[in-house]
Amino acid sequence: MTIRADSDGVVTGRALAGREPSEQRKPAAVFDGERLAALRDTALLEGEPDDAFARLNRIAVELLGVPVSLVSLVDEDRQFFAGQVGLPEPWASFRETPLSHSFCQHVVNSGEPLVIDDARSDPLVSGNLAIRDLGVAAYAGMPLRMRDGNVLGSFCAIDASPRHWSERDLRILGDLASTAADLIELHRVQRLPLHDPLTGLPDRALFAELVAQSVMRAGRSGECAAVLALGIDGFRLINEALGHTGGDKVLVSVGQRLTAALRGGDAVCRVGGDEFLVLCESARDEADALAVAGRLREAVTVDPIDVEGRDQPIAATIGVACTTSQVEPAELIDAALVGLHQAKAGAHACERVDPARRARADKRLRLRSDIAGAHERGELHLAYQPIMQLSTGQPTGVEALLRWQHPDLGLIPPNEFIPAAEKSGAVVALGEWVLRQACSDLLIWRRRWPERNLTVAVNVAPVQMGTANFVDVVSSTLDDLGMSPSALTLEITERTLLHDGENHHRTMDGLRALGIRFALDDFGTGYSALSYLTRFPIDTVKIDRTFVDAMTTDPRATRLVEGILAMTSGLGLQAVAEGIESKEQLDALTGMGCQFGQGYLLGRPASATAITEQLARN
Ligand code: C2E
Ligand code: MG
Ligand code: MG
Repeated sequence: MTIRADSDGVVTGRALAGREPSEQRKPAAVFDGERLAALRDTALLEGEPDDAFARLNRIAVELLGVPVSLVSLVDEDRQFFAGQVGLPEPWASFRETPLSHSFCQHVVNSGEPLVIDDARSDPLVSGNLAIRDLGVAAYAGMPLRMRDGNVLGSFCAIDASPRHWSERDLRILGDLASTAADLIELHRVQRLPLHDPLTGLPDRALFAELVAQSVMRAGRSGECAAVLALGIDGFRLINEALGHTGGDKVLVSVGQRLTAALRGGDAVCRVGGDEFLVLCESARDEADALAVAGRLREAVTVDPIDVEGRDQPIAATIGVACTTSQVEPAELIDAALVGLHQAKAGAHACERVDPARRARADKRLRLRSDIAGAHERGELHLAYQPIMQLSTGQPTGVEALLRWQHPDLGLIPPNEFIPAAEKSGAVVALGEWVLRQACSDLLIWRRRWPERNLTVAVNVAPVQMGTANFVDVVSSTLDDLGMSPSALTLEITERTLLHDGENHHRTMDGLRALGIRFALDDFGTGYSALSYLTRFPIDTVKIDRTFVDAMTTDPRATRLVEGILAMTSGLGLQAVAEGIESKEQLDALTGMGCQFGQGYLLGRPASATAITEQLARN
């Protein structure tokens, strides 16, 4: 080693003893293949220079008071200047010198800083032509070391007369060298991962970018964005039979066949192993995409692939994902891959998957697993919507509506997460919490305004009604809190009554015996079997908002609502109209004798605090 660092880690490199003349030294590291490949990967050896390097050189020139500073990338036969200040012509224009003129190659070879106070008397470099042609008298160079350990060159300062490099000089150079190395790394990272080294096809990151653009274009034009995933059947066996080199040959050929079969704007990439993705820019709709899938399969499989004189037959399977809705590019790609795997599993040649549907299914799965701990994580709260007596305009009670603030997905509407909670069974514990919270909040209002005799309505999922101890859960909650059962209404839907009618009947009877009331929610949207109203202990019918909504435009809806109202009053039941949004609807319903109503016009769902404020106002 010709250069050494002293005990403080500060490089002196001035121990000249033992230095070999450059001619006799074998500069092994300069020619290291891996290092040279890393150097090529930066793409800095061609093209326009990045001014940022020269700016670093200017800082060195000014702070150190030297005439020349270089960012020298040491190639196998030259040093190339990614940045330079103060170099004489013609070198400045060429941006390079032969290695015969390079001190920096020694930095690369040793991987250490090189500090030379007087070049003429230094055996390592005294024969270097830079002394004669570039006027180098003193040199200090710091390695440009990449994160992978490769030293690609040197950041150096050059003086025209011998000079003693101070520790400050070397510290500044060291800092500038690491900044320059970061910059080189950036160039490399920006360029490196865009192509698959085996097939030369775009890699997944570049492909995803192309898909993103295609999805955006499709959104604008109303045409579809389509991605196909093609897998080679039995590739593992092919690999075993032909060896990895043979397997690679097959992959390269498939890549070439796909590329040759594409139309303008289409793109293909390889994703791991034997799977290829094709962006089908030319497909206008799903039929087109399926046609392209067939064509590509044909192109890939029509002839066997010649692997060193041996004909290897090829079979392929394709997954197709096509969408006109705005999906994430990754969802489109995933859907195609899922299609491919489904096709393989089912031994079909081709299978399509709707990415929007898959994305929804993914979200449902996510919600199903996340809802379990949502309460413990404090992500749940209740909103309350007033239920109004239409004749007085005063609230008779509130309905508790569950809200979930998901940390990543934002506020999830109950229609999305209640079904998920039902599937996971989490709805049972959730429901118990809702019941307790809603009753506690109601009690605050009842104590503050006892004369109003306010009630609370709590939605109950079918699964909850089916639990064996539901009656006990409800009655012990009321007991604990000291709340009158008559202040509680449980809202159930026809779905609840449809399943397991016998058990639910018993549960409802048990609760009814306690004095709890029942409302049949969303009436009109299910089977609306009128027999429910007499068979089960129902007190209130909530007319679904779709009817209230339709009343303004469809006279038949108005007659239907009239019919429901007549029927409920005939049976001695109360009616609540849901989703009243306009004065017109309110007037029509009041005119028909509807007693109670709920809707944005009368009061939106609001926090317990907001409801308290509203109650205090009127
Ligand atoms: P629901 O019980 O029929 O509740 C009424 C829904 O209509 C609420 O939606 C409410 O915000 C909405 N709404 C009220 N007035 C209007 C209006 O004027 N216009 C429109 N467009 N909508 C109005 P939300 O809060 O999204 O709840 C949806 C459903 O989720 C509820 O329908 C209920 O079935 C279920 N749900 C809510 N909380 C719970 C709960 O704690 N447990 C169970 N099992 N289900 C719940
Ligand atoms: Mg309800
Ligand atoms: Mg409803």
